[in-house]
Amino acid sequence: MKRLLILGGTGDARRLATRTNELKRITTIYSLAGRTQRPNIPLCQIRTGGFGGTDGLVKYLQTDGIDFVIDATHPFASNMAKNAAEACAILAIPRVKFCRPAWISDKIPWISASNYKETALKINKMGNRIFLSIGTNGLDAFSFLKEKWFLIRAAENPIQPIPLVKHSMILKRGPFNEAHERKLLINFSIDVLVSKNSGGTPAAKLKAAYNLGIPIVMIEKPLPPAGKEVYNMQEALDWLIKSSYR
Ligand code: NAP
Repeated sequence: MKRLLILGGTGDARRLATRTNELKRITTIYSLAGRTQRPNIPLCQIRTGGFGGTDGLVKYLQTDGIDFVIDATHPFASNMAKNAAEACAILAIPRVKFCRPAWISDKIPWISASNYKETALKINKMGNRIFLSIGTNGLDAFSFLKEKWFLIRAAENPIQPIPLVKHSMILKRGPFNEAHERKLLINFSIDVLVSKNSGGTPAAKLKAAYNLGIPIVMIEKPLPPAGKEVYNMQEALDWLIKSSYR
C-alpha cells in the first residue's frame, strides 16, 4: 500500500479524500489544521493540527511513510502551501497543488487588491458599513479603521477576539444563495463588500452586491508555490495514479 497525504480544510479536499480512499492500493490520510471545532470530514484516516513548519512536516512525512502529497488547502492558506512545497522538495516526494480556477471580473466588476492592508486603504474612502466577508484571518489589517462598522461572518466563533472596534458577527456556514445574500446586504445597509478571490463556483454574494449596486473589493489570491497544479478531481486522480506507477 502507498500512502497519500491530503492537506485539507476545503470542500474540494474533502471530496477528493473520500474518492482517493476508495482506490485499492492507496491509503489516504487527510490533514486538518484543527481550527474548526466541527469540521466536515471525509471518509478516510484523519490527522489534526499543525506539523510545526517545514521541519516538522519533513519529520512527519518520513515517520508516517508518506509517498505523495496533494495540497488541497484553501488558495489563501499560503503558509501551508509553502511548507508543503519545501518539505516535499527536500524529500523528493511527489506533490501537486489542487487549485480552484480564480473568479474572473467579466460580468461582475470589482476593485482588486493584493493583500489585506491594501484592501483596508481602499475601503477607507468607500463607505462606512463594510461586509468583510473574508473569514476571521487578517482582520488586524482593518483595525485602524476605528470609525467604520464591519459585518463579519464565520462558521463558528473564532478563538481570537475580533480586533475591530465596531462590528457585528454572524455565525453561519455557507453556501448561501443570492436571495439570502441580497437580504443580508439590505438588512445591514452595507456600503461595500470585501471578498477573497477564493475561486471555484462564484459566490452568490458577488451577484447580490452587483445587482444592488454595492461596490466590491476583491483580494486576489496569492500565487501558489512553483510546481505541478491540477484543477479538478479527475486531474488529481490521474496525477496520483501516474505517480504511483513511477
Ligand atoms: P496557513 O496560514 O497556510 O497555515 C497556518 C498554519 O496552520 C500552517 O503553517 C500549519 O501549521 C497549519 N495548517 C494549515 N493547514 C493545515 C492542514 N491542512 N493540516 C495541518 N496543518 C495545517 O492557513 P490558514 O489560512 O490559516 O488556513 C488554515 C486551514 O483552514 C487550512 O487547512 C485551509 O485549507 C483552511 N481554510 C482556509 C481559508 C482561508 O481563507 N485562509 C478558508 C477556508 C479554509 P504548521 O506550520 O505548524 O504545520
